[in-house]
Amino acid sequence: MTNAIEITGLRKTYAAQGNAPAKDALKGVDLTIPSGSIFGLLGPNGAGKSTMINILAGLVNKTAGKVTIWGFDQDVNPRQSRAAIGVMPQELNVDPFFTPRASLEVQAGLYGVPKSERWTDELLDMVGLTDQANAYARTLSGGMRRRLLLAKALVHRPQILVLDEPTAGVDITLREMLWNNVRKLNQAGMTIILTTHYLEEAEEMCDEIAIINHGELVIRQGTRDLLARADGKTLVIDAGGRVDLPALPQGARPEWRSDGRLAISYPPSRVRADQLLDALRGAGVPIIDVASEQPDLEDVFVEMTRA
Ligand code: ADP
Ligand code: MG
Repeated sequence: MTNAIEITGLRKTYAAQGNAPAKDALKGVDLTIPSGSIFGLLGPNGAGKSTMINILAGLVNKTAGKVTIWGFDQDVNPRQSRAAIGVMPQELNVDPFFTPRASLEVQAGLYGVPKSERWTDELLDMVGLTDQANAYARTLSGGMRRRLLLAKALVHRPQILVLDEPTAGVDITLREMLWNNVRKLNQAGMTIILTTHYLEEAEEMCDEIAIINHGELVIRQGTRDLLARADGKTLVIDAGGRVDLPALPQGARPEWRSDGRLAISYPPSRVRADQLLDALRGAGVPIIDVASEQPDLEDVFVEMTRA
């Protein structure tokens, strides 16, 4: 399988409810996710990430478009397409009256996994819930619930694992446990899709990244290329007005702003601020004041939507 997921023209409009107007959560998204990758779906809150994930999981009905999971068209082969994917949802819904062991067994039953092929004990061990295997879920901490949801997503041994904001509000230990598991599963051949609004987390984990914003795909790139775009700082210099500029180190891009200041964007991985300042000073450009601007996720978004 080359592509784990193929999405074309995906739309979702949530119907108006009470005072809330109808909402176009996805506005025609095309996206392919290669098999074997750790793929990051990024975007600010409300971008449409969970909507997309929940459509993949078969939990939300799409308004239009085509979704193919592991080669199975969701509308033509709903059962096979569902069997290929396991989803750890954003919401911490666990049945309070089931023990972790029972939850996993029930889930396995729902997916028609025969008793002989179940791996309940292994899963409990993997997520560190062996000691709580027979405790009521309502006694589990938030972190334990999240781990149980990870195990639940894996009972039917899906080819694709989807994690929706797995680390939102979790402590560092749980975060590391999650990422260790994700890396191991990926090394064993599983395709991983994760959503997050932490850019640095995606940088660390993902081979490829798609950014959605307001229900639209803004960009989809290999993480390195995306980082190269984000590899930009800006020196903003007050030179007392427009002056002739000398040649600047390669990679530096000068631009005069409307307020009369000189903004030089540069990749800090290749160019240092003092090289820029030396070049200006060497050419007699006055440096009355200088400020440094660093891009954050928001700037990356702005740049992406402009491109
Ligand atoms: P994300 O996961 O990126 O934060 P969501 O997919 O949850 O974004 O939400 C996308 C948009 O759709 C938001 O404006 C959200 O308020 C809206 N939305 C999500 N779920 C529902 C729903 N069940 N009914 C109505 N609107 C919804
Ligand atoms: Mg979400």
